[in-house]
Amino acid sequence: MTDTFQMFIAGEWVDSVSGQTFDSLNPADRRDVVGRFQAGTNADAGMAIRAAEMALPRWKATPAPKRGEILYAFAELMRDNKERLSRAMSREMGKVLAEARGDVQEGIDIAYLMAGEGRRMFGDTVPSELPDKWAMSIRSPIGIVGIITPWNFPVAIPCWKMMPALVAGNTVVFKPASDTPHCATLVVELMEQAGFPPGVVNLVTGSGAEVGNAIVDSPDVKVISFTGHTSTGKSISERAAKRLKRVSLELGGKNAVVVMRDADLDLATDGILWSAFGTTGQRCTACSRVIVEKRVVEPLLEKLEARAKKLRLGSGLDEKVDVGPLINPAALDKVGSYIDIGRTEGELVLGGTPATDGDLQYGNFFSPTIFSGVMPMDRIAQEEIFGPVLSVIPVDDYDSAVTALNQTRYGLSSAIFTRDANTAFRAMRDFETGIVYVNAGTTGAETHLPFGGWKETGNGHREAGHAALDSFTEWKSIYVDFSGRLQRAQIDNQEQL
Ligand code: NDP
Repeated sequence: MTDTFQMFIAGEWVDSVSGQTFDSLNPADRRDVVGRFQAGTNADAGMAIRAAEMALPRWKATPAPKRGEILYAFAELMRDNKERLSRAMSREMGKVLAEARGDVQEGIDIAYLMAGEGRRMFGDTVPSELPDKWAMSIRSPIGIVGIITPWNFPVAIPCWKMMPALVAGNTVVFKPASDTPHCATLVVELMEQAGFPPGVVNLVTGSGAEVGNAIVDSPDVKVISFTGHTSTGKSISERAAKRLKRVSLELGGKNAVVVMRDADLDLATDGILWSAFGTTGQRCTACSRVIVEKRVVEPLLEKLEARAKKLRLGSGLDEKVDVGPLINPAALDKVGSYIDIGRTEGELVLGGTPATDGDLQYGNFFSPTIFSGVMPMDRIAQEEIFGPVLSVIPVDDYDSAVTALNQTRYGLSSAIFTRDANTAFRAMRDFETGIVYVNAGTTGAETHLPFGGWKETGNGHREAGHAALDSFTEWKSIYVDFSGRLQRAQIDNQEQL
C-alpha cells in the first residue's frame, strides 16, 4: 500500500485542488514506490503565496534572535532525525548512505549557522562626514521568497535557501524537484515541529511547468532562489526580469581537476574518483574533466582505471555499495547519448554501458566511465553530462592546463594537485571558478563559506556563509542627525577644505 502525502499551506497539510497525484520511485529499484504526492497547480501555488503574504507582517516583526531560535530548534530536530532522513534520501534519490548523511549534515550545519545569524546579521556603523550625525546600515527582509530546488541535494539545498531566507524575516513558498518530494516533505514536517508559525513556510509539490511557473510569475513573490539546469535558470531569469524580481541562480558545472607532473598521484586518484563517481557524478561540483600534464597521463590513467573498476554499484541503502543509480531513466538515456558522442571524440578506457546485472536491471545504473585523449573543446569536455563520465585531457604544461580549465561556459569548482607551492598559488589566482581546491577533489564545500559559480553557473549571487543573506535582504542606510540644524552632505562639509 503506497502512502499518500499532502502539501503544506498556511500551517495545514492539504490535498491539491487538482485531485491529481504523482508517484516518486526508488531509482535503485523502480518497482519500489516511495510515495504518492500531490500534483499541485497554479491555484495551489496561489493559495501558498497568499498564506505566505498573510504570515509576513508578524514574522517580519518577530525579533531576528527569536526567529533564530526556531531555526536552532529545527537544527536539533534534524540531528535527532538524521538517520531517518538519510535513509529516506538514499531510497528516493539513490545516493549512498554515507553521502546522504553528508547531505543531511549540510542542512543541519546551515540551520545552526543561520540560527546564529539571528543574533549577528551585521550591518555597518560608520562615522558620518558631518558633525553630530549618526550613520549605519541594516538588513531588512524583502517579502515572499519562492524556492525552487533540484533533486540531487534534496535536503541540503532547500535548507541552504530556506534558512537564510527565514532568519532574515521573509516567508517562503517551496517547490521541490518532482523526483524528490518525499525528502522535501520530511524537511517541512520538521520545520512545522520546530515551531515556524503557520504560513511562514509553505510546501507545494508539482511540476516545474505548473507550480514553478506560477511562483516565478506571481507579482507577490519578490525573490526567486533557484538551483537547477542552466537552461531552466535562464528561462526563469527572463520571466522574472519582467517584474524586476531578485533572482538567485545556482546552475550547471563542468568542473575540472588539474594534475601536475609533481603531484602525489595516489592522492590525486583518491580525489578524482571521489569527485567524479561520488553521487554517481550527479553533483553540481562533480569532476567531469581531468586535465593532466602529459608526462603523468599514463600512470594516472592506470591508477584511475584500476580503482574505478573496483567500485561496487547498487542500492545506496547497502553500506557496501560505492556508486548508486542515476536519478531516472531520462538521465540514463542522456548519459548513454554522451557515450556515443565520446566514442567519436576520445578513447573509451572503462565503462560506457548501463549496468544491468541481477537486481541492477530494476534501477537506473550506469557503469563508471573514463575516456582518455579528450580535447578541451570536445563536446564531452564542454557539456554537463551529470553522470559517472570522466574525460581525461592531456596538456603540455601549467599554462595550457589553465587555458583548458577556463575554456568552458561554466565556473563552479576546480582543483589542482601539485606539491609546488608556487603553482598552487598561481592556480588560486588563475582558475575562473567560485571554488578552488588545492590537493583535494572538486567537492566538499563547507557551509560557512560562500558557495556559487562564475559565468553560466550563476548570476553573481552566493549561497551559504554571510553572503547568503544578500539574496534575501535589502540594505537600508540610516542617517540620524542630532545637530539640531540642517546639514547638507557634500555641501556644508566642504567649506573647511
Ligand atoms: P532542473 O532545472 O530540471 O529542475 C530544477 C527545479 O526547477 C525542479 O524543481 C524543477 O521542477 C523546476 N523547474 C523545471 N522547469 C521549471 C520552469 N520552467 N519554471 C520553474 N521551475 C522549473 O534541474 P535538475 O533538478 O535536473 O537538477 C540538476 C541541475 O542542477 C544540474 O544542472 C546541476 O548542475 C544543477 N545544480 C547546481 C548546483 C549549484 O549550486 N550550482 C547545485 C546542484 C545542482 P520539476 O522537478 O518538477 O521538473
